[in-house]
Parts: sequence; structure tokens; C-alpha cells
Amino acid sequence: MSTDVEWLHRESLVIDTHCDTLGRVLEGQRRLGERSTLGQFDLPRALEGGLDTEVMATFFNDHRAGSGARQTLQFIDAFYEELDAYGDLAALALNAADIERIRAEGKISLMLGMEGAEGLEGDLRVLRSCYRLGLRVLGLTWNRRNEAADGLDELGTGGGLTRFGRALLDECQQLGILVDVAHLGPAGVRDVLERSERPVLATHANAHAVYPHPRNLTDAQLEAIAATGGVVGVVPVPPFLGPYEECAPLEPFFDHLDHLLRVMGEDHVGLGLDFDGVGGKRTEGIEDVTRLPNLTRGMVARGYSEGTVRKVLGENFLRVFREVL
Ligand SMILES: [Zn+2]
Repeated sequence: MSTDVEWLHRESLVIDTHCDTLGRVLEGQRRLGERSTLGQFDLPRALEGGLDTEVMATFFNDHRAGSGARQTLQFIDAFYEELDAYGDLAALALNAADIERIRAEGKISLMLGMEGAEGLEGDLRVLRSCYRLGLRVLGLTWNRRNEAADGLDELGTGGGLTRFGRALLDECQQLGILVDVAHLGPAGVRDVLERSERPVLATHANAHAVYPHPRNLTDAQLEAIAATGGVVGVVPVPPFLGPYEECAPLEPFFDHLDHLLRVMGEDHVGLGLDFDGVGGKRTEGIEDVTRLPNLTRGMVARGYSEGTVRKVLGENFLRVFREVL
């Protein structure tokens, strides 16, 4: 890699908005502060890769014991256990100012997210408690149906936001929690975009026009997200990139990025890398978080200006965090 690209990567603020590694921590397989050869993310590898900020997701799992709210609290306990144990490597971020302060200390800032409102059990008091515990990004659904809306596996029903889902959206905007439409069915995406008065995120999704996977967003959806001031995080999951299952080349990732930038403009695209979210599936060149400089190298190779590279790497998400949180 040329020195210029290495320099640009290290100088840039790098924010990734979706990571599932807390699930591995909760299951006792990994510790965030210990370098592992398993999976894709831990703090030593994130520092090596030049990452500054990660949004750690809680998520409901049918196979684990306990209701949604109990599972959420277990995740949050694990999150704080890791922050306490590895304070030399990472610190909690609640807003943009925290991210900038923690970066200046040479540490990774960790934000708390939730993937799927199952974790709230249809109760705004649970949401407000989670906010007090640090929740700042809420994905309304995973692929299944929950109290708030239908996820993408419910495409046949055409269901959008429920009454609870609308109240949840309003409360998130009131509190300062970013709403994430990744995994949400199209009627729900429409409902969120119609109702929201704040920037809307899709933390990990690609362009449907480049590859028509149901997890990818249409140009109309992308334009509407940009119109809210929101950001879409491009995601290197092989089945979302093209006709790939276990392994994809890296170039299609940049094809999606090119398209997102063309449709949304350079202020509305970021990274949503989904580390440890899809088992053993891998995209070549971004096998784990140490490989992040390859993303900067690829953007430079495609002729993006330094300003555009910096926006995609982190400045766009930082702008939204500053505005909403
Ligand atoms: Zn996901």
C-alpha cells in the first residue's frame, strides 16, 4: 500500500455502524480485549485496522433462554463488563463529542445499538431504560416480525409500522436515538421515512439496483434516506453483494459504494461492515477488522477525492451523531 493511502487511512476518522461480536462475548467464546484468531472483530485487531468507533449490537436470539428485555439486559451487562475490563483499549461513546475525545486518547469508542425491537418487548419504559444505559442506535427489526414492524422475512404480509412502532419511532426521536431501517420490510421503511423528522440510518445495506437482494435498498429508498439527512452503511456480506454465498471478491463492494454515492451524494454514505454477523462468510480483502485500510485503498483506486474518502470512512456518520445524539 502506498504511504499516502496508509497516511490517509490513519488520519481519517473511521466509524463502523454494525458489529455482532457481543453475541460471541455473551456466549463465552471471546473477550473484546483479547486478540483472537476466531471471527472478525476484537479491540486489538480494531486498533490495528485503524478503526475509531464501533456500534455494538444487542439482538434477540430464539435459541437463548429469556424474553427480549432479559436478553437485552444480558447483552448490556456483557457490554459494560468488557468496557470495565478493557478500559485501556476502549471507552463508551454516547455522542459525537465522546467519539472525538476517545479518539484523541488513542482508544476505540464503543456505542450501544440494538438490532430488532424484540429486545424492548413493546414497552417504551424498556426503551427509556435502555437509553439511560447508553442505547443510541435502534434497528426496528431483524428479519422477523416484532411488536414494532415486519422484518424482511414477512414480505408477503406487506406490514409496516404498528401503533407501537410509530410510538417507538417518536420516542426515539424525542430521546435522541437513531432509527435504523436495515432488515425492515419495505412498508416499514416507507412508514419510517414518511413519519421521521430526523435523519434515518440504514446501518448495513447495499444498493438493490446493483444486486437485487431483498436486504438491499432501492434507489427511491436511498434517495428518501438521503433526504432525511441520513446515512447508509455499505456492507461486505457476500450474498448482498452479488451472486455469492460463502465468499465474494472485494470489487463488487465498491460497485455498491459507487452507486450509493451516485444516488445519495457524498454526504450520505458510510460503513456498516457487519463483523461477526454472518458466520464464516467472507469478502476477500475485508476478512476481518485489521483489513480496513484496504477499503481506503480501494476508494483511492476508484478515484475518490480525499474529502469523499473521509466522509465515507466516518465523517458522515459523525455528522448525524452530532445532529441527533
Ligand atoms: Zn444485520
